[in-house]
Amino acid sequence: MPKIELHYKELPPCDVLVAGGGSAGVAAAVSAGRAGVKTILIEKSTFLGGTATGALVTPMMKNTLPAKGLFSEVCDRLMQAGGGATFKDGNPGWFNPEIYKIVLDKICLEAHVKLMFDCQVIEAIHELPFLRKVIFFNKSGCFSISAKEFIDCTGDGDLMAFSGVSYESGENNHRQSMSLRFMMSGVDLKALAKWLQENDKRGDSPVHFLDNGDILLSSAHTFEKEWTLKPFFDEALKNTDLKKEDAAYFQIFSVPGSPGLVAFNCPGIISGNKVLDPLNSEDTSWVLTHGRQMIERISSFCKKYLPGFSNSYVCQIAPYIGVRESRRLIGQYVLSAEDILSGQKFEDAIADSDWPIDIHPSKIGEREQLRHPPKNDYYQIPLRSLLPKENEIKNLIVAGRCLSADFEAQGSARIQANCWAMGEAAGQLAAKRVNYSLRS
Ligand SMILES: Cc1cc2nc3c(=O)[nH]c(=O)nc-3n(C[C@H](O)[C@H](O)[C@H](O)COP(=O)(O)OP(=O)(O)OC[C@H]3O[C@@H](n4cnc5c(N)ncnc54)[C@H](O)[C@@H]3O)c2cc1C
Repeated sequence: MPKIELHYKELPPCDVLVAGGGSAGVAAAVSAGRAGVKTILIEKSTFLGGTATGALVTPMMKNTLPAKGLFSEVCDRLMQAGGGATFKDGNPGWFNPEIYKIVLDKICLEAHVKLMFDCQVIEAIHELPFLRKVIFFNKSGCFSISAKEFIDCTGDGDLMAFSGVSYESGENNHRQSMSLRFMMSGVDLKALAKWLQENDKRGDSPVHFLDNGDILLSSAHTFEKEWTLKPFFDEALKNTDLKKEDAAYFQIFSVPGSPGLVAFNCPGIISGNKVLDPLNSEDTSWVLTHGRQMIERISSFCKKYLPGFSNSYVCQIAPYIGVRESRRLIGQYVLSAEDILSGQKFEDAIADSDWPIDIHPSKIGEREQLRHPPKNDYYQIPLRSLLPKENEIKNLIVAGRCLSADFEAQGSARIQANCWAMGEAAGQLAAKRVNYSLRS
């Protein structure tokens, strides 16, 4: 492969450098910052929240276990800011993505985290077994920052890949499908709620009225189930207003503090038998253009067929593709499907979860798979699933959806509540190592 020589300017060092400011990255930076160590967070986009805000993944899925730690704190802060709510099933993770961005900025700044937006990490320099600096670029050129501890929260595991530690990505052609989510405004939520309440005979379209007048509701359609919305999809498919792929996976949620706003968990995008790779820009470019065409059809369908949508319009298409998984660390412990399904517990547990293994089809003809931990039980994620193998880099921690888990286990562990817990533990460990100079 041809090489280029890279000229970069050295910036002042820090104690803990966090790459990526999604759920895990914010949690990592805040917990390190609060522990009193000099922390820098480098984020390639212009806001925090990552997939939650940039890919419009709202609401956060519910563990039936109570929210804890920083995750619980951020849910409370969202509610205080008027951009969060608790659903009637006890899930405190309903949120408005734009307000979330503001809340996350504040939490980081209060913890004295230095935020560097518009900066993409493109290389790492190590002197084995330590990582020494990361190289990143922005509009002014290339820069490096040295740190004592590094935390990879890029979702795609960019920093771990640049560091040369072991990882997997798409082995055996196993992939989750990508989605391009969007939002519609101008929806008459009262009319939609009334229709759902009158017609939902199976309990698949819950509606919750809050004291402040907000209406929280959700509904869905897939081919596997007799959903309440099914007659509208059948009609639209018959009239060729929708293609089959548009109707394969459809989920809507209203948004707290945002009357008339509905968030869509769709379209899910597949390309026949070709398994699309979120790290391949030809594939992601196809997903973006194809996804926007699907959004045009799905939004027209909503306006024409669904109660309450006649005056609605697309107000936002996610700036980022929703990537469910890409690179996964092969670390000191690889969390397995068996661990999830047996409710495995660990001495070095950092997160408790009962979210199922949730695999979204990546090829035509595949079905969504949902497999649950044992009833009334939960599994744990061990700290070792955030640590590269012992003979690899010693001052790197990997948190969030790129954790060390097999393909199926990642399909459960990736939910936002878990990413918060992983990030929080990673930040605490990094700060502890800095404070006690544990490195040899
Ligand atoms: C379509 C879809 C639906 C989902 N549904 C739900 C759901 O309903 N509920 C739920 O709880 N979870 C859901 N998830 C999963 C969950 O949202 C994600 O797994 C989680 O948000 C990932 O958090 P993270 O911090 O690991 O990574 P991300 O949120 O992806 O954050 C990574 C951050 O790193 C930045 N970054 C990347 N590379 C670089 C680089 N080289 N340099 C600097 N910065 C970089 C990115 O810009 C981003 O801000 C869904 C995911 C998808 C895609």
